[in-house]
Amino acid sequence: MRHKLVIGNWKMNGNRAANTALLSGIVAGLNDFGADCAVCVPAPYLAQCQAELAGTPVAWGAQDVSIHAGGAYTGEVSAAMLQDFGATYVLCGHSERRGYHHESNALVAQKAVVALAAGLTPVVCVGESLAEREAGRTDEVICAQLQAVLDAIAPEAVANIVLAYEPVWAIGTGKTATPQMAQEAHRSLRACLANKHAGAAVAVKILYGGSMKPENAKELMAQPDIDGGLIGGAALKSSDFLGIIQAV
Ligand code: 13P
Repeated sequence: MRHKLVIGNWKMNGNRAANTALLSGIVAGLNDFGADCAVCVPAPYLAQCQAELAGTPVAWGAQDVSIHAGGAYTGEVSAAMLQDFGATYVLCGHSERRGYHHESNALVAQKAVVALAAGLTPVVCVGESLAEREAGRTDEVICAQLQAVLDAIAPEAVANIVLAYEPVWAIGTGKTATPQMAQEAHRSLRACLANKHAGAAVAVKILYGGSMKPENAKELMAQPDIDGGLIGGAALKSSDFLGIIQAV
């Protein structure tokens, strides 16, 4: 049985005062809900997470990582730096990175490689655009995005990744994939994993992301291949974030 995982992706939101209020609200409201929980925050706030979350059940991570180990790469943040701040997770290939920063499947795969090498858990994000869904290409697109990562990482590391299915058309739009649509995509991803990695296919958590809220979380999380959520907007309010965790 895969343990559920709920990760808040703050995107480019927050400030020190608001973060303290949000983090303390989450910590205070967490109970034995049966889900692991983490926040992926802007890099400048990793130190704040380390200071305010150490010793709590809430893990923290980053939203991106450089493929380079160090040196003349202005603006980049290395996996070792994230690890230095006690990060557990790093998002790799969020659709906003793929879209606005032209990250290719190959680059995203390299990010997963460096994250794993540093002992971080890469949360590999995949998802189709509306045009791709309407053209019947959802499975082809998301499995190609996953396959690039599977080709790049060591076979024994496959079980150490987390996957997130985030249909691009559902992100920040208020349009959620129906539980059936999400389950179908998650099942395809697990089948793609199972092709060569039967053991890992059972172990890897596949999170759903895209307008998940307390009201729709329960039905989504009840699907057999949905192992949690990657939450954007609703992760910025502790009551909403806790409501989703509670839905598990
Ligand atoms: P929303 O929950 O705001 O739709 O964002 C989802 C997302 O992109 C999480 O990574």
